[in-house]
Amino acid sequence: MNAAVLSVGSELLLGDLTDSNATWISARLRERGVRVVHHLAVADDVDAIVGSLRWLAARADLVVVGGGLGPTSDDLTREAVAAALGVDLELREDLEEAIVARFAALGRPMAPRNRRQAFVPQGARTAPPVGTAPAFAVDLTVEGAQRPVRVIALPGVPWELHELWSTFVVPQLDELGVTGATVTRIVHVAGRGESDVASVVEPLVADEADVTLAFLAKQHGIQVRLTATGRDPDDATARAQPA
Ligand code: ATP
Ligand code: MG
Repeated sequence: MNAAVLSVGSELLLGDLTDSNATWISARLRERGVRVVHHLAVADDVDAIVGSLRWLAARADLVVVGGGLGPTSDDLTREAVAAALGVDLELREDLEEAIVARFAALGRPMAPRNRRQAFVPQGARTAPPVGTAPAFAVDLTVEGAQRPVRVIALPGVPWELHELWSTFVVPQLDELGVTGATVTRIVHVAGRGESDVASVVEPLVADEADVTLAFLAKQHGIQVRLTATGRDPDDATARAQPA
């Protein structure tokens, strides 16, 4: 399975924020043997988000969207996903009640604008909020695609995203038949340059179709990173081992 990560937020493009969500999501997907083919960051703009969604959906089986689910006017992920699907947003009373309950539990008054967060694209599958933003998932069919692409929208706040990953995303990965695993082996090399190391290692790994090779130049040497994907951790380890 191929996946992509779409991070929504103008602050990412202004250089104010590092996209650590995309890094974290990639690591979680890699553990499951899912190949992440793109990371994309996009401004808080409906047309731009719709364009990004379509572009990624044409290239991946799963698109994980982070951010833009807040209560303010610049939180536009709900609108953009609905527009990409060609459906309206619908008020989900169960989500509204869950948001009201979250505020009550926090002992904070709920601003009227937080009601925005109870709207999701029609027909979406949802997860109640762990902060105040519910997550949702839809199946998006793009032109020329063999099958619909699962789009999962998560809040941008890292701890909320992490929690919803376990409760909302992992069950969907299971359901989509994601059963793989990936293992990484890092060989640390000191005293030789990157090109030099590559010229020795590349021919050794060339015949190992299951293994992906990367060279990372660090201050004190070169890391040779071998990544192998298999049916499960044992299978992935067995594939990495010869290399
Ligand atoms: P939510 O969907 O939860 O409302 P949002 O994108 O609408 O998220 P923001 O106000 O933009 O909310 O961001 C909330 C917090 O999450 C900020 O502290 C921001 O630093 C963090 N955050 C948002 N996106 C990312 C990201 N891609 N990587 C790391 N941190 C992020
Ligand atoms: Mg944002």
